[in-house]
Amino acid sequence: MKMNLSNIKKSKFYLDKNECVGIPTETVYGLAANAYSQSATSKIFRLKKRPKKNPLIVHYYNLKMLKNDCMLNEDFLKLYKKFSPGPITFVLKLKKGSKISKNVTNKKKTLAVRFPKHPISRKLLKLLKYPLAAPSANISTKISAVTSQDVKDEFGKKLKYILDGGASKVGLESTIVGLINKPQILRLGGIEVKRINKILKTNLKYKRKDKTLIVPGQLKIHYSPGIPIRMNVNSPRLNEAFILIKKKKTSGKNIYYLSKTKNLKEAAKNLYKTLRMIKNKKFKSIAVEKIPNVGFGEAINDRLLRAAKF
Ligand code: AMP
Ligand code: MG
Repeated sequence: MKMNLSNIKKSKFYLDKNECVGIPTETVYGLAANAYSQSATSKIFRLKKRPKKNPLIVHYYNLKMLKNDCMLNEDFLKLYKKFSPGPITFVLKLKKGSKISKNVTNKKKTLAVRFPKHPISRKLLKLLKYPLAAPSANISTKISAVTSQDVKDEFGKKLKYILDGGASKVGLESTIVGLINKPQILRLGGIEVKRINKILKTNLKYKRKDKTLIVPGQLKIHYSPGIPIRMNVNSPRLNEAFILIKKKKTSGKNIYYLSKTKNLKEAAKNLYKTLRMIKNKKFKSIAVEKIPNVGFGEAINDRLLRAAKF
């Protein structure tokens, strides 16, 4: 994807006016606004129909900018050095005197921060005098957007501008690590937990707050394609789309596969794209083959379980 400077400047123009802009990142597209502005950030909640209590992730260009808003600690610096810029988000203590809007933190004293790797979002952040609050660019509870067209499909004319940066390379949200007291994995995503454990010399595991694997119905709905999803299925029903982890000889209009060779990273990248494709057809439901619950497979299963409650 070529860097188009005039499009980046156009995005800056809207952002400086406290408007929202759809931005490309390597994880998923973001719905961005000036994180220091109450009016700009309130537009994010309005556009996404997002509950006010759900705090936003703030995107930074570098550590110098971050130091205005957060208290840094050793674990953060270790992980930052290894994985940033990249698909990892850190929850840190908010600094006294930070200009971060109260909308962003839901008045909490913590802040989720990330350094995106996508060259276009980096260039944009470098030009701005403020960090960008940018949750995923989708209507709350729906499927995340991985292309600029997806963002357009979500918001239509309500969104003033979308900066195109091609298809997101990771295709799945960032891993969120809480670094307030003891490190904690708060969301599975683009960096595998075992890589984080290696750097911190820990053995952290992702613990769902709800007993999800047993009772998926109790999960907070998210990433929803709007039709039911059945997991660990061997053969699909009539009028059901069937998602396979790996390309097989069987073919049919209802068959979708997430990777060519059972590569879980590739499968994660293709998950939202596939769910969007299926959503636009007339299937009654979606069946998914069993996906190994390791590495990126654990992140895929987590998203599917949440999507399954619709
Ligand atoms: P999204 O809006 O899709 O980018 O998701 C952002 C995620 O980050 C949500 O699940 C938020 O609850 C989470 N988040 C944002 N800020 C914080 C915070 N200060 N502490 C814990 N989680 C956070
Ligand atoms: Mg989201």
